[in-house]
Amino acid sequence: MVRRNPFTTIIVTGVPGVGKTTVLNNVRALLDERGRKYMIVNFGDYMFKVASMRGLVKHRDELRHLPLLKQLELQEYAAEAIRLDAEKTLNGGDILFVDTHAVIRTDTGYWPGLPENVVKALQPDSIVVIEAPPEVIVKRQQRDPTRYRADLSRVEIVSELLQMARIAAMASAVHVAASVFIVENVEGDPTIAANKVVELATKLR
Ligand code: ATP
Ligand code: AMP
Ligand code: MG
Repeated sequence: MVRRNPFTTIIVTGVPGVGKTTVLNNVRALLDERGRKYMIVNFGDYMFKVASMRGLVKHRDELRHLPLLKQLELQEYAAEAIRLDAEKTLNGGDILFVDTHAVIRTDTGYWPGLPENVVKALQPDSIVVIEAPPEVIVKRQQRDPTRYRADLSRVEIVSELLQMARIAAMASAVHVAASVFIVENVEGDPTIAANKVVELATKLR
């Protein structure tokens, strides 16, 4: 049987630098205006907190270069911790957004961000894939001094990641009968994508 959380659950994915976190900051503003209760969590924050406490990394962009088994342990921990935090905070009618990745470009190959164990812990109604043209994404990465995305910052790499991200989102959706919703993050105006994500949230239940 397919399981669903009492609250609407939306996983937001997309290649590094496409603007997931920016779009979700705009979603926050829109939902505050409407007085909706929601929680926005960043999957990488959960992984990074434990990894840095264990002295494995100093920066979040080092996580994808860890040995795969270490990433897997951190990933499994993050999924369970997010599920517990959301269950403590949210009720029916509320919305959970998880800012994460459907695929990770690791040193040992493309790796699912939402394998069966993770997607079943989170129980999404929908998986959003945020997209933009590859050239635009590379420019966004280059303009962002807060992150180290040099390993991804080439148009050919981003183009392949865009393809893998769609495939991975659909593969994950199959495990939990979630929809896959593709949204363009238009250059210069992240509120366009944010409005689409909010509209999606109101149509799922
Ligand atoms: P990561 O997966 O690495 O966390 P991300 O998808 O969360 O990346 P952001 O950090 O939100 O990406 O955005 C990357 C950069 O692109 C930031 O500098 C941000 O200001 C910029 N940006 C995001 N959306 C837009 C947009 N619509 N137009 C112009 N710049 C944007
Ligand atoms: P972000 O800020 O979204 O890029 O997250 C930081 C890092 O956390 C990413 O670059 C990945 O290495 C890792 N990460 C985030 N989500 C996942 C996931 N679902 N599975 C595995 N690693 C992830
Ligand atoms: Mg982000």
